[in-house]
Amino acid sequence: MDRTQIFANKPTSQDDSWDVVVVGSGPAGLSAAIYTTRGAASTLILGGEKWGGQLMLTTEVDNYPGFPNGIQGPELMEMMKNQAVRFGAEFKTSSVTSVDFSKVPFELTADGKVYKAKSVIVATGAETNWLGVPGETKLIGRGVSSCAPCDAPFFKDKNVLVVGGGDSAMEEALVLTKYATSVAIIHRKSEFKASKAMQQRVFDNPKIKIIWDTEVLEIMGENVFEKVKVRNTKTSVESEISANGIFIAIGHSPSSAIFKGLLDLDEKEYIIPKEGSKTNILGVFVSGDVHDHTYRQAVTAAGYGCQAGMDALNYLSGDHGL
Ligand code: NDP
Repeated sequence: MDRTQIFANKPTSQDDSWDVVVVGSGPAGLSAAIYTTRGAASTLILGGEKWGGQLMLTTEVDNYPGFPNGIQGPELMEMMKNQAVRFGAEFKTSSVTSVDFSKVPFELTADGKVYKAKSVIVATGAETNWLGVPGETKLIGRGVSSCAPCDAPFFKDKNVLVVGGGDSAMEEALVLTKYATSVAIIHRKSEFKASKAMQQRVFDNPKIKIIWDTEVLEIMGENVFEKVKVRNTKTSVESEISANGIFIAIGHSPSSAIFKGLLDLDEKEYIIPKEGSKTNILGVFVSGDVHDHTYRQAVTAAGYGCQAGMDALNYLSGDHGL
């Protein structure tokens, strides 16, 4: 049997509804679409102009199961996209600019077109907050990272820097100590925002040094990261710190702006899931980093995508779980 022959009929006119519209095309959105298409639900992925999510900014991914020799982030995303398309998902690199969840079918506007949907899976992800200083963008993936669990092994026996003062920065620094010779946390204040327990673990670790009251002005290096230019916020004295890598851990921002006022958001604007992937609106589901501020891994996002895909299929089959 040709296992791709399970396609559901796609809408033939703008007035028809898709069974599922997935908003976003990172591991969560594409995994959701793999499940919904294989469940014979017509599925449109509105993947955004910068499709593929955060893995498109990553080089080697060594912690995604099934790739014992690692895989490049963009290649992994291309494979996930092809897998969803193979089962009949329609993929568009259109960015959703507004949604109307007040009636069913729901309506989503992208690139000036209105798409109708019986159910929606929100998988818009989150963006790493970067410093925005000169040199940073061009060296991302070349010694500049935002994910120690992903990239720490590349810094075995090296000296690395971490920027930030919250729990993420503490966690990144602690993960890095398993590989690096030394870790220096650069923080702009003279105390951390992180929980006391995490701070204590950092203070107790002999490999970690803290550089207080210091802001990063520039990230420097020809083709790979070499050093940072910093300024002491109290004395205004500028200096340079050399290292092999730098991890930016100053928070993430969920991409939830278009759902504000419609879906329940927490104080940091992450979408609040109800039970499983359900949201406060029946027929609208959420998956991935737009609701998960704890794990934020490709593999967890893919797992959440699977969950949302299955929840959407149950919903479409009339099982609302109510
Ligand atoms: P936070 O918002 O908690 O902390 C961000 C840190 O980055 C702050 O110290 C902030 O400085 C600093 N910062 C922000 N912008 C800049 C900038 N432009 N330049 C320099 N420094 C900057 O984000 P986190 O990602 O650390 O944590 C997010 C949430 O996730 C929190 O609720 C946290 O508790 C949770 N979390 C929990 C973990 C755990 O329990 N294991 C692990 C990771 C996260 P300042 O202090 O000056 O504002």
